[in-house]
Amino acid sequence: MAEVRFDRVSKVYPDGTRAVSSMELEIGDEEFMVLVGPSGCGKTTALRMVAGLEEISEGELRIGERVVNDVPSRDRDIAMVFQSYALYPHLSVYENIAFGLRLKKVPKDEIDRRVRDAASVLDLTEWLKRKPRNLSGGQRQRVAMGRAIVRHPQAFLMDEPLSNLDAKLRVQMRAEIARLQSDLGVTTIYVTHDQIEAMTMGDRVAVMRKGRLQQVATPQELYDRPVNLFVGGFIGSPAMNLVQARLEASDGDGSYAVTVGDQRLSLPQELIAARPALRDWSGRELVLGIRPESLQDAALAADAPADRRLRAHVTLREALGSEVDVHATIAARSAETEHVRELIEDRGGLETLEEGGETTIVGRLAPRTTAA
Ligand code: ATP
Repeated sequence: MAEVRFDRVSKVYPDGTRAVSSMELEIGDEEFMVLVGPSGCGKTTALRMVAGLEEISEGELRIGERVVNDVPSRDRDIAMVFQSYALYPHLSVYENIAFGLRLKKVPKDEIDRRVRDAASVLDLTEWLKRKPRNLSGGQRQRVAMGRAIVRHPQAFLMDEPLSNLDAKLRVQMRAEIARLQSDLGVTTIYVTHDQIEAMTMGDRVAVMRKGRLQQVATPQELYDRPVNLFVGGFIGSPAMNLVQARLEASDGDGSYAVTVGDQRLSLPQELIAARPALRDWSGRELVLGIRPESLQDAALAADAPADRRLRAHVTLREALGSEVDVHATIAARSAETEHVRELIEDRGGLETLEEGGETTIVGRLAPRTTAA
């Protein structure tokens, strides 16, 4: 069993920075858990505590049955893959992969078997004699993976392992790492700031912000039911549109509507049924979140009733081939909450929020053409 458990774990650096606060997280045996969040949210610190590279200030950390707070890194039976790969330039691919096993005095023929097995799984067999400088970025990344695999560790820890690769290779390696992890069935904690990586790779994703866990859930749950505005805005691309609105109950018939600027939109009954707590917000200001793909082109939804239509002034169309991103302004106040203001800082600007009485929203629509 190689569960990893954070039990109210905190990290306070000597200068007083509280990088991780009271983290409660259980990563199951064989699970692929992704820690994601904006720069500085504490995800690397959390991973380094599991690796034994950072002391734990408060709480208990377990790997398997053992509390490892005071167990040195080398005795934790984990393998780490870093962004930099940390390969030895003067050693061949074979020796780089074998390095950790030699240190552990594993017998020579056992080392040879493990290195060749890993090389075969990672498609590195023909490069075993090469030096790292003569490999492509993707191949170097695979050597770093190989070095982790041969140790047969209880857990893999990966810190942004794909960030030095170009976009195309990143997509390819993302799939390879996920497949490899599921074949090997080794508990994995993977750190990234890239929410697409998180969503595509993780069995579950833990979203962090300012040292605190916000939500831990499957990618689909995170997307469909974010627990707060931060998670809603952070997960999804293009980002969720956030607009200031007011919720109103229609008299008697149990239906609800939101007012956005001078427009009124009725809410689907299912939405209220799924979130009964919304009823308490009747008559109050709230932030309306609309996923870009939930918007439709009015021309293609001619039979939609008037109270399901939002008038907006289109300012930009970006054709992506299979879809079109449409930027449009609506007369409504942007969502001004402390949460949202911080979101703007965290994301380095959020398109949906602007000064004044106009808000830009983005819709991801089907293209109008019907070309075959
Ligand atoms: P990034 O994606 O930019 O690497 P992160 O989410 O991994 O960010 P951490 O590196 O864990 O974040 O840092 C969390 C917080 O702790 C940040 O505010 C950072 O400045 C601070 N921090 C990290 N290392 C130290 C240190 N050695 N001493 C003091 N503060 C630190």
